[in-house]
Amino acid sequence: MASKQSIIIIGAGIGGLFCGAILSKEGFSVKIFEKHNQIGGGLHQFQREGVVFETGIHVIGAFQPGGVLNRLCSYLGILDKLSILPEDDDCFELFQIGSDQKEYRFAKGSERFIETLGKEFPEEKENITRYVQALYAICDTVKHYNLEYSETSMREYPDTLMQSVGDFIDSFTENERLRSVLGLANPLYAGEQYKTPVYIHAFISKFYIEGAGRFVGGSQQLADALTQVIRQSGGEVYAGNDVTHIEIEDKNIDHIVTADGEKRRADWYISSIHPSSLFKLLDTSKLQRSYWTRIDAIPNSYSSFTLYIILKPNTFPFFNYTGYYQDDYNMTWTHDEYTPDNWPKGMMYITPPVTSHDTFAEKLIVNCIMNFETVKQWENTTTGKRGKDYETFKQRCEQQIIKQLEKVFPDIRSSIQSVYSASPLTIRDYYNRKEGALYGAKKDCNNLALSYISVRTKLKNLLLTGQNVNLHGILGVPLTAVTTCGELIGLEDLLNKINKANL
Ligand SMILES: Cc1cc2nc3c(=O)[nH]c(=O)nc-3n(C[C@H](O)[C@H](O)[C@H](O)COP(=O)(O)OP(=O)(O)OC[C@H]3O[C@@H](n4cnc5c(N)ncnc54)[C@H](O)[C@@H]3O)c2cc1C
Repeated sequence: MASKQSIIIIGAGIGGLFCGAILSKEGFSVKIFEKHNQIGGGLHQFQREGVVFETGIHVIGAFQPGGVLNRLCSYLGILDKLSILPEDDDCFELFQIGSDQKEYRFAKGSERFIETLGKEFPEEKENITRYVQALYAICDTVKHYNLEYSETSMREYPDTLMQSVGDFIDSFTENERLRSVLGLANPLYAGEQYKTPVYIHAFISKFYIEGAGRFVGGSQQLADALTQVIRQSGGEVYAGNDVTHIEIEDKNIDHIVTADGEKRRADWYISSIHPSSLFKLLDTSKLQRSYWTRIDAIPNSYSSFTLYIILKPNTFPFFNYTGYYQDDYNMTWTHDEYTPDNWPKGMMYITPPVTSHDTFAEKLIVNCIMNFETVKQWENTTTGKRGKDYETFKQRCEQQIIKQLEKVFPDIRSSIQSVYSASPLTIRDYYNRKEGALYGAKKDCNNLALSYISVRTKLKNLLLTGQNVNLHGILGVPLTAVTTCGELIGLEDLLNKINKANL
């Protein structure tokens, strides 16, 4: 019997784990090396005072019957291991604007979405309908994102998909307030009004309109379920053993070196880490430098400052939606343009579910956009040793967020038991992501050639996966994992298998 082809994967985040699980299921011998002592990357959780917090996956989607993640997890046999609470049908996202005290509810399903938003903008209902139809049409065009096979690559799709999200929204309405409201969820994809390609806005919007939800008890359950698939097939995920060097021979990876000093070889290698972090592991004298320097130079999306609040028991009601607040409509696209005094310009907040029937919230997580520049003065420090002035900076940020929160929850202070926080430096150091980029490499429709990253590389036995290729998050990263694995299995075959498993 022919021996299994062997794969080494760098990084056990969503990208590495989905690749590992798919390839294990399809008969490859998989080894994953993970820097952190906990598996999961963005799925990673931590505990404070016994309370579990998610770090990088708070809101999910596409796990509803027929959704792409439902189908992918069902093919992997892990769907029944996941506990998911769908967000409220009538309001999965609540947007509050301070200046006129208005609230906008995004409701689930395209019809209900149009109906609900149409009530706020009765004279614009037809335009809202056309906008939603166009969003869905964009999503239908990209076959792969529906787990359907197509020969067309992302670069060959029509220009309509590659126009900016701002131009796209502007083409449906002259109403400035509606334009602003349709863009309000842009922190979910680090949107830049006239730079982010509309396909990103379309996928993320439809993803949540169709099936927004949260993991009950935290996101680590998905990492554990994927790891189990790998181990059941004889593969292994090695936590706390990072890849420290990659040796190249004749345009191939010859071997990698891990932190324990071992040299390790495989037929194929997959990198699931930030391209700049990968670049640092390579022996640059043996590289086609122009390719790697282009990849290394791709600008990154902005980062965030996160506040983790432990709430006093039974004092703060649980809510089953994702909340957003900003002071005025004109701030929609400028959360990353701030001064020390007017930060944060917006915030996203959630009460993660502990059970599927919570009445009170145990915790509140608040994410606010922050640029790496803001913490650059501490860039040469490491976790726990950043100094007193950094701690003072963090405390000031925490207080500024709580002040913003009081605009939505005037009595919030009386419910706070304790607070913890994470800055762009935390994101950089925990995931090894350049500049603590929230969603990795930035996509710019004005320079797609610069921001395009293929799963294939100039090294013959190295493939890429993860959020820097195509699309980030719990939707984008698993779908890119399918593309990456398709290079080894045959994409058409793999998609057939996934779809057959769902018949
Ligand atoms: C604060 C925050 C909130 C977010 N909220 C959401 C959300 O609600 N919904 C959503 O869909 N997305 C969200 N995202 C985005 C999402 O977390 C990412 O898109 C996703 O986790 C990226 O997965 P990945 O596998 O590409 O990379 P990562 O999760 O970064 O995984 C890479 C892994 O590689 C490891 N690694 C790095 N270097 C090495 C090395 N040399 N050797 C071995 N291992 C290495 C890292 O430790 C990490 O585990 C959020 C992100 C952040 C930061």
